[in-house]
Amino acid sequence: MSQLSGGNDVMVMEVGEALNPLAIARQQLDNVAERLNLNQSVYKLLRHPRRTVSVSVPVVMDDGSVQVFTGYRVHHNLFRGPAKGGIRYHPDVTLDEVSALAMWMTWKCALVDIPFGGAKGGVVCNPKEMSLGEQERMTRRLTSELMIILGPDKDIPAPDVNTNAQTMGWILDTYSMNVGHSVPSVVTGKPLAVGGSRGREEATGRGCVRTVLEALKHLEIEVEGVRVAVQGFGNVGRIAAGLMQGRRASIVAVSDSQGGIYNPNGLDVEKVAAYKAETGQVAGFPGADEVTNEEVLEVDCDVLIPAALENQITERNADRIRASVVAEGANGPTIPAADEILYDRGIFLIPDILANAGGVTVSYFEWVQGLMQFFWSEEEVNEKLRTVMRKAFHDTLEVSIREKVDMRVAAYLLAVSRTAEAGKTLGVYP
Ligand code: GLU
Repeated sequence: MSQLSGGNDVMVMEVGEALNPLAIARQQLDNVAERLNLNQSVYKLLRHPRRTVSVSVPVVMDDGSVQVFTGYRVHHNLFRGPAKGGIRYHPDVTLDEVSALAMWMTWKCALVDIPFGGAKGGVVCNPKEMSLGEQERMTRRLTSELMIILGPDKDIPAPDVNTNAQTMGWILDTYSMNVGHSVPSVVTGKPLAVGGSRGREEATGRGCVRTVLEALKHLEIEVEGVRVAVQGFGNVGRIAAGLMQGRRASIVAVSDSQGGIYNPNGLDVEKVAAYKAETGQVAGFPGADEVTNEEVLEVDCDVLIPAALENQITERNADRIRASVVAEGANGPTIPAADEILYDRGIFLIPDILANAGGVTVSYFEWVQGLMQFFWSEEEVNEKLRTVMRKAFHDTLEVSIREKVDMRVAAYLLAVSRTAEAGKTLGVYP
C-alpha cells in the first residue's frame, strides 16, 4: 500500500480502481460480453445491480450506548430465480464490495445450474470486538430493516465472512416473529435443530476439495503427497485443509488474519484447529515456522487455496506463486492482472465461482429439503454435491480447452450465457 501514500493522484486512482471489487467484477463480465455477442439490453442490466438496499442499524451496546452500523443488501440479478447469497460482517465492507460479491453469486449459481439469482449483504462492523448479545441485537435489527426484501421465494441469506449458523438462526427467528409463523426456508446455513441441512457447514470446503481433486486428475498429478498451502483457516480453509489431509496430501502452510505457520514436513490440521480453538489463532503453533499472511501464498507447494478475502493475488506477487494449482476458496482473491500472469506461467487456476460453489449448492439442497419438509442423510447430500461439482468442473474445463481460455473465462462464458439466455427469454418489462 506504500504506493498509495506517494501523493500522486493519478496513481491513487489507478491503484484504487485496480483493487475495487466492483470494477474487477465488471471487467470480468466485459471480458466475455463481446465473445458471447451479448444482447445489449441484457449486457447493460448485468453490469448493474438490480436492487440495492442500504440501512442504518442502531444497536444498544452492552455499556448502554447506542451505535449505528451501516448495512447493505444487494440483489444483482433475478433472471434465474430468487436472490441468494451470504451476509458478511467485517470492518472493510463497502457497497462496491457487496455489489461485486452479489454479481459473483449470480455467476456462481448459474455455473452450478441452481435456480437462484445473485445477492449479497454486509454490515460494516468488527464482530471480533462485539459481544454475542451485541451481534444478536445487530442481526435482529438488520433483519427487521431488510424484511421487505427477504423471503423464501424472494431473497434467502446464508453465512459468509464472520457469520455462521447461529447468525442464520437469529435471522430466521426475527423474520418468523415478524410474519407470525415459522419460515425456516428464509435462510440457509441454519442450525440442524431448526431445519438446517446435514453437510452444509463443510460444503464450501468439501466442494473446493472436489474441484482440486478433479484438477489434479486432469493434470495427472497424484494427490498423495501433494503439498498444500491454505490462506484462511475459517469455515472454508480449515475444512479444505482437513479433507486434503484425509486424502494423504501434506498441508505445509496455513494462516488466519493474525498470521501463518509453515512446516515443509506437513502440519497436523486437527491439532492446528485445536490450537486455534484454544488461542484464537494459528500463529504460535509449536513446531512450525511463523510466516505472514502474504508469505503463505508464496511458500513452496503444489496446491494453493486462498480462502480468506479479496485482492490477495495481484500483479505484485503473482510471479512468486509456486503452486501449480490455485483453487479460490475465497471470493475474488485474484485480480485480473494477476490472472494473466498465472495463466502465462501455466498455473491452473480454479476460479471462485467454481471452486467455492459447494456452499451455495448445499444451500440450495437445504432450501429444497425445507420446502419439501423431507430431509436427506449426510451421505446423500455429499453425493449430490459431488455430482454437481464434478459436472460444473468438467463443463468449465471443456469450454476452457475448446475456446483456449483460462478456467475463469471459461466459467464466465458458461455462467453469463446461461444468465443472459434467461434474460433474453424474460424480455424487458414493461
Ligand atoms: N456465502 C457463500 C458464498 O459466497 C454461500 C452463499 C449461500 O449459500 O447462499 O458462496
